[in-house]
Amino acid sequence: MTSVQPDPSAEPLIRVDRLCKIYSLESGVNGTVNSQVLYDVNLNINRGEFVAIMGHSGSGKSTLMNLLGCLDTPSSGHYWLAGRDVASLSEDELASVRNHNLGFVFQGFNLLKRMTALDNVATPLLYAGVSRAESRQRAQELLQQTGLGKFSEYQPNQLSGGQQQRVAISRALVNNPQLILADEPTGNLDTQTSGEIMGVFERLNREKGITIVLVTHEDDIAAYASRLVRLKDGRVIHDSKVGP
Ligand code: ADP
Ligand code: MG
Repeated sequence: MTSVQPDPSAEPLIRVDRLCKIYSLESGVNGTVNSQVLYDVNLNINRGEFVAIMGHSGSGKSTLMNLLGCLDTPSSGHYWLAGRDVASLSEDELASVRNHNLGFVFQGFNLLKRMTALDNVATPLLYAGVSRAESRQRAQELLQQTGLGKFSEYQPNQLSGGQQQRVAISRALVNNPQLILADEPTGNLDTQTSGEIMGVFERLNREKGITIVLVTHEDDIAAYASRLVRLKDGRVIHDSKVGP
């Protein structure tokens, strides 16, 4: 009889089992009030998937993204990222996971205002101990990849919203993440620019195999994904493959 060894590459990149999140709020009148925001969320995401998460405002999308990004801890349930139980990691290990496995893109771009596009992208590399020359070279390559090569010396306020989001995407790519988490990345952009930004995510997914989990309100943005997960009042109410 042959024994079957688990194959680590067959493990989903994200495995979420009965994840719950309860926020405790201090209320002057009632003492501490608990508010449950996620209920028994189960979600497996394989490497190379492009998943859209939809749901009304307040349905728990950002809360789930923060948990997936190891920026917050669940109240109960389990989360394995690339086969590692996130709850078992030390602060240092978590920081390392965030820096080496994950890239974040937000609705508000979150760029440093007084820095050029190039320095915004290069800064995480400098923090990681990469030399200044190498950081700048790599940042320039990434800006090139997102179509912003000519704008490296511009500051955020000299760039359009779509260009700022390209800088933010370039920055999310500096450490070669396996996973990009994008929370309403086109929420501040017009329709045409949103389509261009989604084109960037689509290319990163198709050509580089980067797994993408993206929150959006809009059906035409979700249509770029190959899988749709719907949240309602903190529960997954729908999860299916979409697209051609
Ligand atoms: P979405 O991103 O789908 O709009 P969120 O995950 O931001 O929803 O929020 C879900 C619910 O959790 C909302 O009712 C919100 O008020 C609440 N919430 C979010 N963050 C916190 C927090 N830090 N403390 C308390 N409640 C929170
Ligand atoms: Mg949100």
